[in-house]
Amino acid sequence: MTVSSAFNAFKSSKFVTWKSTGRLQQTLAGCIERTGKSLHSGKVSTVKLWPELAGKGRYFDFRSTEIRASIEFAEESPLCTTLCKDGVKIRTVEHLLSALEAMEVDNCRIEIKNSGSEDCDLEVPIFDGSASEWVEAIEQVGLQVATDHYGDCCEKMVAYVNEPVHAWRNDSFVAAFPSQEIRITYGIDFQQVQAIGRQWFSVTSLDNSFYCKQIALSRTFCIYEEVERMRDAGLIKGGSLENAIVCSASKGWLNPPLRFQDEPCRHKVVDLIGDVSLFARCGSQGLPVAHILAYKGSHALHSDLVRRLSGII
Ligand SMILES: [Zn+2]
Repeated sequence: MTVSSAFNAFKSSKFVTWKSTGRLQQTLAGCIERTGKSLHSGKVSTVKLWPELAGKGRYFDFRSTEIRASIEFAEESPLCTTLCKDGVKIRTVEHLLSALEAMEVDNCRIEIKNSGSEDCDLEVPIFDGSASEWVEAIEQVGLQVATDHYGDCCEKMVAYVNEPVHAWRNDSFVAAFPSQEIRITYGIDFQQVQAIGRQWFSVTSLDNSFYCKQIALSRTFCIYEEVERMRDAGLIKGGSLENAIVCSASKGWLNPPLRFQDEPCRHKVVDLIGDVSLFARCGSQGLPVAHILAYKGSHALHSDLVRRLSGII
């Protein structure tokens, strides 16, 4: 990374002002390897997380094709966030990226490969549908201050939102308002599924302890009546009662107990953090200092917010 590219990466705009967090960039203290089944393709894949130099940020590595975990490589796909580059597609990156962002693994090489297959369509394992497998792995291996090629530490930058920025589709929206600390407020509304109904969840002063205890454990949820339709569309081939909480409109939750009474809404916050982490660059924080307010959001909408913050749309 040259000095000028670093300068351009942190150029402030009408929407955001980049400032130092007062902390140093970090990376993993060792290597992490996890293998598991993926939700949408049903394939088994292995992910290996490696320590990385300061300034490199987080990126996927598939047979030497490097895809930065950045909004410019995000492609709209139903039900998950996908990164694409040079014919390589990596799906369901959001829970892993959410854990890395929240646990402050600022620089990381994410090596990924399919088990027993050579194709370029990859997917991060789903595990139990939450981010907890990744959080535990990161806690086990620990963190260290990252240094660059010269052995120097780098300060960690963060964007402060200067004015309200929003994105919306139909009756859904996500907005980022200026704030002195990171706050997240999320609302969902499933009128047709009584057991979920309307839920709101708020986070003030997000830190990694709150994330680990109150957010990371919440699992992916799906509506039983929609599952068949998704299977017909070739999605959730690896879906089971082990990797999602499933709710039927008529029968309620099919695989209780829930970990939190508002687990679906908390899971949306896991997704939001993972998707907004695509705003990170060169080892900076992805989540801007802002109050992010979302209502009936989706991966596509979260990505739109990042594009707005980046001035792309
Ligand atoms: Zn999710």
